[in-house]
Amino acid sequence: MNRKKLSGKIALVTGSSRGIGRAIVERLSREGATVVINYFSSSDKADEVVAAIASGGGTAVAVQADVSRIGGVQRLFEQTWEHFGRIDILVNNAGIRITRTVADTQEDEFDRLFAINVKGPFFACQQAVHRISDGGRIINISSAVTRMMLPGYSIYAASKAAVDQLTRVLAKEIGERQVTVNAVCPGPVDTELLREGKTEEQLQGMAQMAAFNRLGKVEDIADVVAFLASDDARWITGQIIHVNGGYI
Ligand code: NAD
Repeated sequence: MNRKKLSGKIALVTGSSRGIGRAIVERLSREGATVVINYFSSSDKADEVVAAIASGGGTAVAVQADVSRIGGVQRLFEQTWEHFGRIDILVNNAGIRITRTVADTQEDEFDRLFAINVKGPFFACQQAVHRISDGGRIINISSAVTRMMLPGYSIYAASKAAVDQLTRVLAKEIGERQVTVNAVCPGPVDTELLREGKTEEQLQGMAQMAAFNRLGKVEDIADVVAFLASDDARWITGQIIHVNGGYI
């Protein structure tokens, strides 16, 4: 019998009602995982993903939670537990980008971005330490911008660099339970977040920086996440994996 690689696994993916997160839950579901779709405000979009997964024969539930608040993160894990009684895979995907020079960045922008991009993954990792199954998987979505010197990307890049370091430290802290912790750093991927505030010309310029002369597709990232979530990736931990078609 051709058993799917993630059969019997419970996967929680933050911010998964659209974009890269949606592609990740759909891909994990195709590998046999039962998925928890976390959304912040768009319940209609989350319901659409649940329905799409159900129509493909998978199992999914949608859970509203603001991951920038510890209470939201706790509720997300509690509801996952109430539904399925375990968690095997956590993907910290929810994130926002604010593009500002250091000179122009306001305190409230700094606080909001760090609350969603750093505090959220940090406390979700803390919940996972207490609840994830032995041999589980934690995958944090970081960004190629940590390796670049892009003017205007200071707080966003700093937030993703914090996620990379959280990944490395947690991998050692949780390693004895055979849980792997890795970060995936996409280059530009064609989503609403990427398109925000950019002209077609700017997007073309980004596409041309990749070896394959195109923007990333959400599936390019989801396939790597599915691999890291599988048993095939059991010897990969504490790694920051760049997935960008040769962009940098
Ligand atoms: P997106 O905006 O389409 O998706 C982000 C999701 O996070 C949305 O569904 C949003 O509602 C959710 N979210 C935001 N704040 C939240 C909160 N407080 N609580 C719960 N959910 C919240 O963006 P995307 O392009 O799919 O990005 C997904 C991840 O990939 C992000 O972490 C982003 O930084 C990262 N990334 C994206 C690119 C790219 O080019 N698209 C490149 C590198 C890294």
